[in-house]
Amino acid sequence: MSNPPKSVSTQSCSVLGLPVHVMPNYPDWLLECLQLGQGAHVVTLNAEMTMQAEQNKLLADVIRNAELVIPDGAGVVLYLRLLLQQKVERAPGIELAENLLFSLVRSHSDAKVFFYGGAPGVAQQAAKYWQQQTPELAIAGTHSGYHSKEEEENLKQTLAQIQPQVILVGLGVPRQEMWISENRHLCPQAIWIGVGGSFDIWSGTKTRAPSWLGNNNLEWLYRLYQEPWRWRRMLALPEFAWKAIVYSLTGKGAVAH
Ligand code: UDP
Repeated sequence: MSNPPKSVSTQSCSVLGLPVHVMPNYPDWLLECLQLGQGAHVVTLNAEMTMQAEQNKLLADVIRNAELVIPDGAGVVLYLRLLLQQKVERAPGIELAENLLFSLVRSHSDAKVFFYGGAPGVAQQAAKYWQQQTPELAIAGTHSGYHSKEEEENLKQTLAQIQPQVILVGLGVPRQEMWISENRHLCPQAIWIGVGGSFDIWSGTKTRAPSWLGNNNLEWLYRLYQEPWRWRRMLALPEFAWKAIVYSLTGKGAVAH
């Protein structure tokens, strides 16, 4: 974690060689980054992403360079709890984004946010949902995640011009992580978060798993039910479990304070 604000106690753990930051209140830490004018890339780590990073060195480097990596997935949390004996709660990326937007309205009322990603109209619909939730939230713009090269250039110019404080990017993994890493220089003081399918949820296109499934680390099962084509991607979960055991036996899962 580079140049973290000091006032919140943070702990850095390692899951299969990738960092995970554990702290009591992620939105507070991010608000402090905004206050200090320090940009941040937030990665929401789950087992699938960890397995992708094993094959994709560029993705692994992007995750290692992110200012904040939160334990989004059940596999990552179980790894930290069972193998590293860490007291860690799951921090779903969508909830971090929601809490950050609510906190932003309270503490940085002039801050602008931007939604990028999802099928045509989805980010716009998600913005409508947010305007109903918190009319004070300044959504400076939205852009679909399916576009031509030329449209992407226009999007970059728009971002550079608007300088939003918070930019949510929902292009799926690893596209969103790579895109943020390549483009965060456009708005160096912004908080950039890869939010996966969050716009689909906020727009009402998809629904989240009932909380009892999430609380029992079974949100992945609901996603499989909703999107059966995910089964191939989910083979990463048993692979992650196996690698986690081997990795922990070889003593590489160190904890740094
Ligand atoms: N998406 C996009 N552009 C693309 C590919 C995907 O905007 O070129 C969007 C897609 O519409 C969906 C999101 O990216 O809203 C991916 O959601 P998913 O839940 O699959 O994310 P992940 O599980 O990879 O975090």
